[in-house]
Amino acid sequence: MKKRLKTRLSAGFALIALITIFLISLAANLLINKEFEKYIKNQQETFSNDLAEALQLQYDPGTESWNLEYIHGMGMYALNDGYIIKLYANNGEIVWDAENHDMTYCHQVMNTIIARMNEERPELNGNFVTHSYPLYRNDTLVGNVDISYYSPYYLSDDDFHFIDALNRILLVIGIFSVCGAVAAGMIFARHITLPITRTIQLTGEISNGNYDIRLPRNTSIRELNELTESVNHLAESLAAQEAMRRRLTTDVAHELRTPLANVASHLEAVIEGVWEPTPRRLSECYEEIIRISHLVSDLERLQQIENENLTLHKSPVDLFALAQSVLSGFEAGICEKKLTCSVTGGHVTVPADEERIYQVMGNLLSNAVKYSHEGGKIILTVKKENGFGIFMIEDEGIGIPQEELSLIFERFYRTDLSRSRKTGGAGIGLTIVKSIVQAHGGTVTAENRIEKGSRFIVRLPL
Ligand code: ADP
Repeated sequence: MKKRLKTRLSAGFALIALITIFLISLAANLLINKEFEKYIKNQQETFSNDLAEALQLQYDPGTESWNLEYIHGMGMYALNDGYIIKLYANNGEIVWDAENHDMTYCHQVMNTIIARMNEERPELNGNFVTHSYPLYRNDTLVGNVDISYYSPYYLSDDDFHFIDALNRILLVIGIFSVCGAVAAGMIFARHITLPITRTIQLTGEISNGNYDIRLPRNTSIRELNELTESVNHLAESLAAQEAMRRRLTTDVAHELRTPLANVASHLEAVIEGVWEPTPRRLSECYEEIIRISHLVSDLERLQQIENENLTLHKSPVDLFALAQSVLSGFEAGICEKKLTCSVTGGHVTVPADEERIYQVMGNLLSNAVKYSHEGGKIILTVKKENGFGIFMIEDEGIGIPQEELSLIFERFYRTDLSRSRKTGGAGIGLTIVKSIVQAHGGTVTAENRIEKGSRFIVRLPL
C-alpha cells in the first residue's frame, strides 16, 4: 500500500529524532557514569589519605602514647563508610584493629559492600584491598596503618540513588523530546503537504474544465511556490486558450454570416425570377465568395502560425534589404494608386526568421497601400535604437481612431473607417504580424501621425 507523504515525513522525523536522542542519552549516560566513577575513586583515595594523616596526629611524642579514645571513634566512623583500619605501633604491636574490636559488624559491612557491588557492577570484579601508610611524627616513624576498602571503587546507597535519578531524568527528557519531534514533524509535514494537496485539488478542478481557480502563493518554501505558480500559469494559459477557441468560433461564424447571407439572398432572388442574373449581380456574388475564401485562407495562415507555436528558423537578416525587396513586390498596387514609396535609414541586421519578417513587412505595407489615399506617400524606415532593430512604416492614409489603436491587433478587428470604404480584409493581418513579432521577442505598436495617416513600429531585438 502506498503511504501518504505526511505519514512518511512524520515517521521519518520521529525516527531521526529517536535515533538522535537515543545516541545523545547513551553518550551522556556513559560519560556521566564514567566521570562519576572517577570522582568516587579519587574521593576514596583522598579519604583514606586523610584518615592516615588524622591518625598519625593521635600519637603524642611527649608521652609516647596514642589517643585511643579518638582513634576508636575515627575507626568506627570509617568502618561505617566501608574503611577497615588496623593501626600498628612502631614496635609492631597492634594499637587498634577494627576486626578485633567488632568482628561481626566488620564482616557485615564488608559482605554488604561486596554483595551490592557484585550485583550492581559485576564487571568490576572488585574486592577489599589493603593500603599501607607509614605514620610519622616530627619526621620520626611512629607507626603504620593498614586501611582496607573495596577496590577499584564502591558506591554507597546515596551514590546509586544519584545515578538512578540521573538516568530517570535522561529518560524523561528523551520521551519528551521524541514526543516533541513527532509533533514538530507532523506540523512540518502538514506545512509541506498542504500546498501539494491543494495543488492536486486544483489540477483536478482544471482537468474538469474549471480554469478560474488560482492557488495562493503563500508558502515559505521556494519550490512549492514555484509549483503553485506553474499550476496557476497552466490554468491561465488553458483559460486563455479556451477563451480563444470560443471567440474564434463565434468570430468565424460572424464573419461568414454576412457574405453568405448576401450570396444566398442574391441567388434566391435570381432563382425566384425577381432578379435577372446579370453579369454585375453574378460578379457581386463572386466577390462575396472570394471574400469568404480570403477569410478561410487568412484563418489557415493564422492557425498555422499559432499552431506551429512559431518555430523560427533564425539567421542574420538585413532589415533594410528586406524592406526594399518587400516594396518591389507591391509595385503594381503602388502604381495603381499613384503612391510615392521609399525606404530610408541604414542597414541593420537582426537574428530573425527572414520569411516571417518578410510576411510582417508585407502585411504592414499592404495595409498602408490599402488605406492610403490616391497619390499619397509611404515611407519605410530602418534604424537601430536601444538594442533593437527598428522597422517603421508611415502612410498618409485614413489613420486609425485613437481609441481603437490598441484593438486593431486583435483577431478580426477592423475599424469602422476601413469597413465603410470596403477596403478591409478579414482583420487578421495585424494579428499575424503581432504573433510573429512577439515570437521574435519583439514588439509592434501603432500610432497616428500628427500630420495625417498612421505609423506602425516594429522593434526586434538585436
Ligand atoms: P485587414 O485585413 O482588415 O486590413 P488587419 O488586421 O491587417 O486586417 O488590420 C486591422 C484593422 O486595422 C484594419 O481593418 C484597419 O481598420 C486598421 N488598419 C491597419 N493598418 C492600417 C493603416 N495603415 N491605416 C489605417 N488603418 C489601418
